[in-house]
Amino acid sequence: AAAAVAPEVTVFRSKLPDIEIPSHLPLHDYCFARAAELPDAPCLIAAATGRTYTYAQTRLLCRRAAASLRVLGVRQGDRVMILLQNSVEFVLTFFGASFLGAVTTAGNPFCTPQEIHKQFRASGARLIVTQSAYVDKLRHEAFPRIGAASDDGGDGNALTVVTIDDAANTPEGCLAFWELVASADEATLPEVSISPDDPVALPFSSGTTGLPKGVVLTHGGQVSGVAQQVDGENPNLYMREGDVALCVLPLFHIFSLNSVLLCALRAGAAVMLMPRFEMGAMLEGIQRWRVTVAAVVPPLVLALAKNPALEKYDLSSIRIVLSGAAPLGKELVDALRARVPQAIFGQGYGMTEAGPVLSMCPAFAREPSPAKPGSCGTVVRNAELKVVDPDTGLSLGRNLPGEICIRGPQIMKGYLNDPEATARTVDVDGWLHTGDIGFVDDDDEVFIVDRVKELIKFKGFQVPPAELEALLLAHPSIADAAVVPQKNDAAGEVPVAFVVRAADSDIAEDAIKEFVSKQVVFYKRLHKVYFTHSIPKSASGKILRRELRAKLAAAETA
Ligand code: ATP
Ligand code: MG
Repeated sequence: AAAAVAPEVTVFRSKLPDIEIPSHLPLHDYCFARAAELPDAPCLIAAATGRTYTYAQTRLLCRRAAASLRVLGVRQGDRVMILLQNSVEFVLTFFGASFLGAVTTAGNPFCTPQEIHKQFRASGARLIVTQSAYVDKLRHEAFPRIGAASDDGGDGNALTVVTIDDAANTPEGCLAFWELVASADEATLPEVSISPDDPVALPFSSGTTGLPKGVVLTHGGQVSGVAQQVDGENPNLYMREGDVALCVLPLFHIFSLNSVLLCALRAGAAVMLMPRFEMGAMLEGIQRWRVTVAAVVPPLVLALAKNPALEKYDLSSIRIVLSGAAPLGKELVDALRARVPQAIFGQGYGMTEAGPVLSMCPAFAREPSPAKPGSCGTVVRNAELKVVDPDTGLSLGRNLPGEICIRGPQIMKGYLNDPEATARTVDVDGWLHTGDIGFVDDDDEVFIVDRVKELIKFKGFQVPPAELEALLLAHPSIADAAVVPQKNDAAGEVPVAFVVRAADSDIAEDAIKEFVSKQVVFYKRLHKVYFTHSIPKSASGKILRRELRAKLAAAETA
């Protein structure tokens, strides 16, 4: 019998050569590898207080945080939940847990008690590090009673809550973070043997398409994911000693945790931590601390591009603007580029499950090569990327849009407590299926069209909302916009837009429709424009189109 011939697979790889990745190292040792050589270099800058911590201080405090967690009963394999805005304490807790071989799950403190509880329960955490302002959420009936494990009447189920505020403001039943750290002795830390396959973080996906999914990321995976970005003689994302990375995107999302915090530490750069996005404070911080590397998301680019206050600040220190997490149109980039002319603009393409970076702008490399506007860069080194027909699964060649798949040492171990979902997403050959439609062009650059689930189907034609949103945002009378499908008898679905008018504009529906019609093929024309005051977005910077779709559906049945 004839042997079955395997269908040909077109695999795209980085133009940068593969590197040796020290994936045997635990993540903390890998990230602090340069601390001995750069003890006095700034590592963390708390923008809110102006305090800076050197590499030696940061590493020492992380080890004291580890000793504190250990005193509270945290052991290897245990889960610790962080419910904090970006802060020094976030970093200390994350690495403190890592030093013990424990696993961190970081949640969005602005979520509801029910949402926080879901993540808490799924992760199996018994200890939460938070801020007194959020402790009331943890007093919700779903959570175990707050108290020390020893005073819970013996069933061992009490919830240990550590708060980072001044000890005087510690809520009842909670413990003061800095008191614990001050009395901790890092010399008591045991030797923990950590294998590359051990989990270190349990981030949750953004919940853009449904409920957020818990993702298991390992030491070896995160070391690989960081190495693919900042290691090697010619790092893809070149950061170095003396750089200052803007850390305003929330650290509970993997983009900020991995590509900002972990990458900056590995490179010996400083991280400027901002607790929240506030335009004035952020611009102030960039100016004061001479930020060189700015990680942003499209809503932040939009806010910056359309904000005249930018002119009042000295942003000349910025050399890299890295956007990720959602599609970014070239029109918007051009608008911002005019204001930060010296910076290199580019995108990274990431996904929590992918550990998270799949591709990165090659213009950020130490020896840069150019990237086209709108591209998400080239696939990271030490990894393979392919594009498949979403219906047949067959591999596609260049310039043909299909579902993007990635394979490499950086991808997730699996979904948390969900082997079936894992098997649906990572196939037996190790390919992670992203659910994103994109293609690779003749220069190996990756272009994301949109998510499979977000594509609007007009008769047989596919309309990517992201493309229409990019056009709309380029209009000076439009402050923000989102495009969603509306049910239509004749076409199945038609694209309609939600639009936020610019402050002094009274632009009409017809003018907007015409503006788009002139630039697109007939099936991408907008059928309706709804004016609104804001576009719902997730904390990680994504348009929540499902909320707008629900709004439309409700209007239709009303
Ligand atoms: P969920 O999986 O819970 O529905 P999510 O997919 O938005 O939410 P994340 O893991 O935070 O959660 O985001 C990954 C997704 O973000 C990618 O699958 C892709 O759709 C989108 N994305 C990330 N970077 C880019 C980019 N540069 N351009 C376009 N889309 C991007
Ligand atoms: Mg996703």
